[in-house]
Amino acid sequence: MRIKVVTDKRSGVCGGVSRAIKMIEREICNRNSRDIYVNGELLHNRLEMERLMDSGLKLEEDVEKIRSGVLFIRTHGVSKDVKRLAIENMNQVIDATCPKVSSSQKIIEDHYSSGYQIVIVGKEKHPEVKGLLGYCNFEGICILKNKDIDLIDMKKKTLLIAQTTVASERFEYFASLLKPKISDLKIANTICPFVEKRELELVQFAQEHDIVIFIGGKNSSNTKLMYDRFSAYNKRSYLVENKNEIDFTWFRENDLAGISGSASTPTWQIEEVKKVIEDHFNQ
Ligand code: SF4
Repeated sequence: MRIKVVTDKRSGVCGGVSRAIKMIEREICNRNSRDIYVNGELLHNRLEMERLMDSGLKLEEDVEKIRSGVLFIRTHGVSKDVKRLAIENMNQVIDATCPKVSSSQKIIEDHYSSGYQIVIVGKEKHPEVKGLLGYCNFEGICILKNKDIDLIDMKKKTLLIAQTTVASERFEYFASLLKPKISDLKIANTICPFVEKRELELVQFAQEHDIVIFIGGKNSSNTKLMYDRFSAYNKRSYLVENKNEIDFTWFRENDLAGISGSASTPTWQIEEVKKVIEDHFNQ
């Protein structure tokens, strides 16, 4: 059986993650025997994390346990308290928080100090949201389901802000729901444009191919969101974490197969999956 396999030229990790990986790789090259830590998975991609850890990066979520070496704050950011603690304990703290997340932190901090109630459309337990809550003294309200609206005091002046990877319809839905109810409502749509752009590109990619193999971490909300969206446009879309999860019975004679990935899938993994499929069918 012969098939044609093409990779999605627009795929690859987002700017925030790529920036953090470059910062860490540079530090690993110059480390002079110092330990280099990151306070949690830099990206939801096991293989890429393993690659970085094989080259010397150490993972330690509990910042209090790190007392020497260099600590990278991951792209999702951390609360002000955690950052302060890290700076007190460590010689060197390098902030690799994505600039888009830093901007959300600043918007929250400014509005909270001006007396605004903070409402975040996002998952309370997501690392980015946990960090954001630390910029409003953990008094922010997280909403994702309709019933969460009951937690909001409609009499208070309010900032409505988004987790960078939340679905845009969800955010717009809450914005239109709250507009008539809260007289002083500030709306900050902080959804990452990269994620939105990739969603549109993936829908197009899904429509252009007979079968789509999408590579991404199954614990990544970003991966799940993107996959859920574009797979509606191609019923033969499959989500895998790595080349070992490819099932060759998915493919049919003369298929045009497209390989793509989420915002946390490096291009080397996409090329690797392409090679495995080509080697199997087109020897
Ligand atoms: S998805 Fe967007 S907000 Fe999140 S790390 Fe990447 S660039 Fe930053």
